[in-house]
This record gives sequence, C-alpha cells and structure tokens, in this order.
Amino acid sequence: MTCKGICGRHKAQKPVGSGRYASGQRRCQICEIFINWEGLWCPCCGYRLRTKPRNLKYKARLRARKKLQEVYPEKPIPVQV
Ligand SMILES: [Zn+2]
Ligand SMILES: [Zn+2]
Repeated sequence: MTCKGICGRHKAQKPVGSGRYASGQRRCQICEIFINWEGLWCPCCGYRLRTKPRNLKYKARLRARKKLQEVYPEKPIPVQV
C-alpha cells in the first residue's frame, strides 16, 4: 500500500464555508491528501478512506474521566515506619 500518484488527479480543493468531510471529501492517510471520491477505498493506494473527523466523543469521555479522578482522588496509602 503505497501512493502511486493517482490521488493527485482527484485532489479536492479546500471548501469555503464548510468542512472538508461535510462537503463529501475523503482523506487518505497513506497519501496524506483529501480527494473527491465516492468509494470507501483510495483509488490510488487502496487504503480505507476516512470519511469523518476523529472521534470527538471518545476524547470528551476521556476528559470526563480525568475530571472524576480529580473529584475523588484515591486515598493515600499510609506509609509504615
Ligand atoms: Zn496517492
Ligand atoms: Zn491513498
């Protein structure tokens, strides 16, 4: 799976007023390019294309858990002398 340069023919221009994914563009992680392509797979390298931005929900959950830890810190373990 390597870039063969075909993706350059499908290169997507940066949309005005909306996000790239919102306007139907897809991202290839291998070619590191946004393309106008209907399929799920990159026409160039054959790798699965990304159709959505990174999962924001997951990040939010991680943040929430961190906050919880700050509210309920673990009890300090008494040190025996
Ligand atoms: Zn490519
Ligand atoms: Zn590709």
